[in-house]
Amino acid sequence: MAQAQPCVLVVEDEGAQREVLKYNLESEGFSVVMAENGDEAMLLVAEEQPDLIVLDWMLPNVSGIEICRRVKADPATRQIPIIMLSARSEEVDRVRGLETGADDYVVKPYSVVELMARLRTQLRRTRPASMGERLSFSDIILDAGEHRVFRGGLPLHLGPTEFRLLSTLMEKPGRVWTREQLLDRVWGRDIYVDTRTIDVHVGRLRKALMANGGDNPVRTVRGTGYALG
Ligand code: CA
Repeated sequence: MAQAQPCVLVVEDEGAQREVLKYNLESEGFSVVMAENGDEAMLLVAEEQPDLIVLDWMLPNVSGIEICRRVKADPATRQIPIIMLSARSEEVDRVRGLETGADDYVVKPYSVVELMARLRTQLRRTRPASMGERLSFSDIILDAGEHRVFRGGLPLHLGPTEFRLLSTLMEKPGRVWTREQLLDRVWGRDIYVDTRTIDVHVGRLRKALMANGGDNPVRTVRGTGYALG
């Protein structure tokens, strides 16, 4: 199983546009959830915790700008990158002026290639391992593109699950992950795995990371889960 792919939420009221986006995003290997309006969008933001939102400006009732404001006002969701789609460049200027907190803007009609490039730029920042980047923490290096891990310059041998687990931890050093969050990210949301399974794999990961000596870098957070560093 590959590293859980980034989940993209598409908020667009026009069905044809939505389908084009879904097709292209899935072709790029992303998982896609879709909303037609603001209420659906806010529900999916809470339920799916998407890695990125492609948000149309022109929506019925609640505008894209308002959704953007709400997402960026909530500490639990403000780190989710938002790319706004706008029909006219004047709107983009207005959006910029309003400083809604959108991370990027694309003017319709847009080139799919350009939109995907902008999307990857955002995700390289927030989901670097899933985008094949090279990550480092202390003396550990994880090369997601080459699928290799080194500690103190020496190659380590990790099973596929331990590799995904380490990728997840290395994307956010210091973040405390609950077992449920790790299961969602490492195994995927649709698969039922007992939370104790995660403890087994953390044990294996620690052993692999300490194979050539060195401290245990994966901290157990009592009553919660795990953190790197
Ligand atoms: Ca629209």
